Amino acid sequence: MQYRDYGKLGFKVSALGMGCMRLPMIIDGGNAEVDRKKAFEMIRYAADNGVNYFDTAYGYHRTMSESIVGEALEGERRKRVKIVTKQPLFAMPAQADIRKNLENTLKKLRTDYIDVYLIHNINPGASWEEVKRRNLIGEWEKFKSEGLIGAIGFSYHGNEQCFVDILDHYDWDMAQIQQNFMDIEAQATERAIKRCGKKGCACVIMEPLRGGGLATPPPSVKAIYDAYPVKRSAADWAFRHLLDYPEVSCILSGMSTLEQIKDNIRLFSADDAKPGCLSVADKDLLSRVRDHYTALRSIPCTGCRYCMPCPNNVDIPNTFSLYNDGASFENFDQPRRGYSFAVKAQTDASQCVECGQCEEKCPQKINVIETLKTAHKTLQGWVE
Ligand code: SF4
Ligand code: SF4
Repeated sequence: MQYRDYGKLGFKVSALGMGCMRLPMIIDGGNAEVDRKKAFEMIRYAADNGVNYFDTAYGYHRTMSESIVGEALEGERRKRVKIVTKQPLFAMPAQADIRKNLENTLKKLRTDYIDVYLIHNINPGASWEEVKRRNLIGEWEKFKSEGLIGAIGFSYHGNEQCFVDILDHYDWDMAQIQQNFMDIEAQATERAIKRCGKKGCACVIMEPLRGGGLATPPPSVKAIYDAYPVKRSAADWAFRHLLDYPEVSCILSGMSTLEQIKDNIRLFSADDAKPGCLSVADKDLLSRVRDHYTALRSIPCTGCRYCMPCPNNVDIPNTFSLYNDGASFENFDQPRRGYSFAVKAQTDASQCVECGQCEEKCPQKINVIETLKTAHKTLQGWVE
């Protein structure tokens, strides 16, 4: 296993981190719950075979993930791994909840300290303003001085501009962002990785395979990989794109089977999977793959967000992006899961009241209302 510096904090973490949001499930009709036996086996295997970084969150698996991670790692394993968890604003409506929730999380994780504590999914606009207004960082600094948490960070899925505002606002220990070779100009962009590096802020990557889609390319993308003289799996190429950045501390993979863990440990243990591992020709290959995936996206949305804000809070670009992911990966499972968060946040397409404001603003002349209906039909109905 390859280990990397964790920003300015003076310790190293495994380049592969285990994201505990896609643990194996037992699905029985409409009921779905984590397969605890398999989940314990996977988490313990990872901890015993080089992975020392476990990422969970209050909300994962209907708030069950933290307790599963805590039980799996309790005892000797806990001492040699880093446990990272996240607290969302919606779970702390009152100021007193900030401490109450941390105490509850510590109990679930069966530990007396959390290595890295994150504000979960800060959004540009309202949620970032709320973080500042409620002095959340100040409250968490108290936890740090009490030894209850070791480091303070945030996870983020928004745009580049707000990312810069957040990063420059405070001396963060870590930032967790979505990046992969498809998103270099999306989300916080690949420039966010360099920004973190310059500030000594550990940069942790989520969605390296874009919900798993990049690991299972459709035949036309597979043909591009197959024609290239260097033979690697699609997942290996996607991970190497990120391992190439020296500023990346850890890449989280939401693994659902023991085989995936074993495969990923092997990929992250390769001697040459290091910064600088991609040649000019390799980068050109990934750029051609990116162009091909982009061409498979059936809604011509560029993500410019000129149509936003929608007066009824529909997140139009997010809906189209999820639909396009499904279309280009020829698999809608993960986009459906992503869309379920929009349904919960009431930003999904069913909120549209057909006012038509967005259509006037769209430079791509997309028939937004009808396209939202089509996307909603395909994306709805995810069962966690
Ligand atoms: S048509 Fe629908 S999506 Fe567009 S702005 Fe109006 S409510 Fe929002
Ligand atoms: S304005 Fe059009 S292209 Fe831009 S994000 Fe909205 S739907 Fe997409």
